[in-house]
Amino acid sequence: MQSRRSRSTHSPLTEAKRVVVKVGSALLVDSQSGRLNRAWLEALTDDLRRMRRRGQQIILVSSGAIALGRRHLNLPSGALSLEQKQAAAAVGQIRLAHAYKELLEDDSITVAQVLLTLQDSELRRRYLNARATLNTLLDLGAIPVINENDTVATSEIRYGDNDRLAARVAQMASADCLVLLSDVDGLYTADPNVNPQAQFLAEVAQITPEIDAMAGGSASAVGSGGMSTKITAARIAVAAGCYLCIAAGQPRHPLRRIESGARCTWFLPAATPVAARKQWIAGSLKPAGQIHIDAGAAQALARGRSLLPAGVTGATGQFERGDAVQVMDAQGSVLAHGLAAYSCEDVLRIMGRRSNQIEALVGYRGRDEIIHRDDLVLL
Ligand code: GLU
Repeated sequence: MQSRRSRSTHSPLTEAKRVVVKVGSALLVDSQSGRLNRAWLEALTDDLRRMRRRGQQIILVSSGAIALGRRHLNLPSGALSLEQKQAAAAVGQIRLAHAYKELLEDDSITVAQVLLTLQDSELRRRYLNARATLNTLLDLGAIPVINENDTVATSEIRYGDNDRLAARVAQMASADCLVLLSDVDGLYTADPNVNPQAQFLAEVAQITPEIDAMAGGSASAVGSGGMSTKITAARIAVAAGCYLCIAAGQPRHPLRRIESGARCTWFLPAATPVAARKQWIAGSLKPAGQIHIDAGAAQALARGRSLLPAGVTGATGQFERGDAVQVMDAQGSVLAHGLAAYSCEDVLRIMGRRSNQIEALVGYRGRDEIIHRDDLVLL
């Protein structure tokens, strides 16, 4: 793998058919002046055109709307309120889209703006709609440029960072490769700004609890995603059979540099990606609640069984039937994600009971399982 990647003609980035590239705010917008880094963006768009000439399909997930818009509204430096961010995004997004159109479009490339909200990935029907739109745009030869619709997204219903948004997009579009261009060049065993002993990891074959623990806070002042959002993104991407690369975006031509073996961290895709519907369940970013289970139920789930009321010890949150929930073990760890067949209220009524008592307890004949195994993904 290592030797293959060091040759520019064989990198997951050159071999992928469909690539998602996420560009962070810190790269696009100069932190001093609040202006677009135009020369940098020109070099990036050169790289993207080169990929297109090789026949690759590209989706861009671009941050920068808020960072770009704030200057025009004379907003103060430092943290903004949600309303200020929404206003800044409205001003910045139009400029961002304009810059991409101007710098990326040519005879064979059309730029398409797609603004998503969290519900577009978390609600199954909307996820499928968004997926169909992306597929159509790609089939028609366009490059979708995606951002969160920050102007309408309120705090409870925001992605808030484009790392996780990009991973959901990669999963949605069945991309082969997701590149997170950032102000860090990859994953280290500790924060390299703080700990000089920190070691760089070139490849991550599996996201273990140790890998999770390595993801400290963000070193970046402009973007919102730290290393932990990148690990969440990686988990979603690799489960979907997609390579994920964390790479430094600051140098000119960052994608070309990755192709020719520049330092970056590659997360390798899972050998057997789970079915698309289960990927969507596993990648749920805002589960609506939690179902707590006992040790016996945890063992049954590990053997591939459904979750029955008998093994449930509690439920929290506002979830309704069909919502995505976390399944927690007795120690409080998240074991699985699943779609609940009952609302939180009804789970509290039927927990600890046998399935044949459900009808008498809730007043209708529902499913025997609280989460059917087809709707359940162990994490
Ligand atoms: N959607 C935000 C913006 O365009 C950025 C989120 C992020 O920094 O990841 O400004």
